[in-house]
Order: sequence, then C-alpha cells, then structure tokens
Amino acid sequence: MAGFNVRSILVTGANRGIGLEVVKQFLEKSNPPEWVFATCRDPEGERAQQLKNLASRHPNLEIVALEATDPASIKAAATRVEEHLKSSGLNLLINNAGIVTPSTLESETPEDMSLVYATNVTGPLLVSQAFLPLLRKAAQGSPQPGLSCSKAAIVNMSSECGSIANLFAWELGHAVSYRCSKAALNMLTKCQSLGYERDGILSIAVHPGWVQTDMGSSTPHQAPLTVDVSVQGILNVLPTLSKKDNGAFVNWEGKVLPW
Ligand code: NDP
Repeated sequence: MAGFNVRSILVTGANRGIGLEVVKQFLEKSNPPEWVFATCRDPEGERAQQLKNLASRHPNLEIVALEATDPASIKAAATRVEEHLKSSGLNLLINNAGIVTPSTLESETPEDMSLVYATNVTGPLLVSQAFLPLLRKAAQGSPQPGLSCSKAAIVNMSSECGSIANLFAWELGHAVSYRCSKAALNMLTKCQSLGYERDGILSIAVHPGWVQTDMGSSTPHQAPLTVDVSVQGILNVLPTLSKKDNGAFVNWEGKVLPW
C-alpha cells in the first residue's frame, strides 16, 4: 500500500458506508492522491456532512454531485472532474454506489427490479462511459507497462450475493433484484475488461465482504466485518492487481471468487 501511488481517484456513493471509508483511507495515506473526487447525490445536504468535514481538512478532496440513475448528472460530474484535472487523466474509478431492496421470490416487484438494475448496473455502465476519456488519458500518460490500479482502472463494487456458483446468504434474504443486479455487474466487469484492455485500463469486480454499514446491517444478523477492516483489505488488494487479474471477481482479501 505504501508504494501504491495513485494521482487521482473517484468514488461514487462516497457520503457513507464503504465509499466514505475508501475516501478516508486514501486521504490518510502517507502518499495521498493529488485529487480525491468523492461523489454523492446531494453535496449541499445533511447526508454529505461527513464528507464536508473531511474536505475542510483535506484540500485535495473535491465533493461532486452524482446521481447514478441520471445520465445528465453523470455527464455533469465528468465535466466538473475534467475541469479540475486540467490536462491529466483519472487513474482510479470506483463504482461503489449501490442499493438493496428487501424481497423474497414471492414479493419481488417490477419496480424494484428496474430501480436496483438502474442503480447497480446501468449506473456503473454510464459512469464508466462518461469517465472513459479521462481513464484513457491517464493510461496514455502513464510510463507504467501493462495494467494496474495506479495507471488506470475501473473497480466495480460487486457482491458474493451475485455469485451463481457460491450464492451467499440465501437463508438470510432472497434479495432477488440485488442478486440479479450484482450477477449482471460481474458480467459488465468482464465486458469492460475485454473492451478496455487495449486502452490500458484494468477492470475488476470486488466483493467487500459482509460489512457493518447501513446496507450490511439490513438483516437481523450482525455483519462480521467492520468497514475499516474491509476497506483496508480492498486497499491492500488493489496495488497487487495486474493484467492477469483483468476481468476477475475478487474479494477484499484478494481471493478469486467463482462467478
Ligand atoms: P450503504 O447503503 O451504506 O451506502 C450506499 C451508498 O450508495 C450511499 O452513499 C448512497 O447514497 C449511495 N447511493 C445509493 N443509490 C445511489 C444513486 N442512485 N446514486 C448515487 N449514489 C447512490 O452501502 P455500503 O457502503 O454497504 O455498500 C457500498 C457498495 O458495496 C454497494 O455497491 C454494495 O452493493 C456493495 N456491497 C456491500 C456489502 C455490505 O455488506 N455492506 C456486501 C457486498 C457488497 P445516499 O446516502 O444518497 O443514499
């Protein structure tokens, strides 16, 4: 982690939970990024207070509005980030924003299927499309060979709940729309890895573990992982990733998971 030099990162859904902790831990590095773009739906609102507190101490933190289900909001965010970066590109894009809606096979609705897909799959697709020119610019400007998260990468925050071979925690909740969305996000990651490898961009799906956040605490059982430990794990794994990992599905400990 100490030798992991990332000049610029962007994290979606960064006002709470795993996204907020990723931002915090990058800012606290001995060699923090020159730019940390933390996006949230409402930068002026109360829900962004923790980010605003951080920004008052870290001038390299920029809070940017981004609603993952709104293409215009995503485009405006990309324009704003480009203005800050001037001639340099974006090294690391973390598609973290996501939702779960409680459901069983019997109670799942078309509305929730659509909303969860729009947020957890179409959102990361559109965000990646909008930031692609900046990721390409970072890759082109990097002297590093191969693929890496410090050169240019898309990290999609997935879930083992979307693994078909290793279907996680079925007995705790069916969450059908969520599981389907994460299986689809894994496929999106694979497609991105095939499409963007020639641009020098690495794509990876990461399962953060079952984590004590608002989302992770939405079942009656206690999630085993603190957000601090999960994010420390993820930040230890990212520097180890290279071309051989492009398009893979890994967990916060770097273990490859079955699709
Ligand atoms: P939280 O519910 O704690 O936080 C979710 C974040 O996503 C919030 O910042 C929220 O913003 C944001 N968000 C939700 N919808 C949108 C949207 N339409 N546009 C922009 N931002 C949005 O979740 P976690 O931190 O636990 O989860 C982060 C990621 O990790 C998710 O993708 C989740 O699926 C994944 N994950 C989490 C696990 C866990 O155990 N916690 C396990 C496996 C995967 P707002 O405050 O405005 O709602």
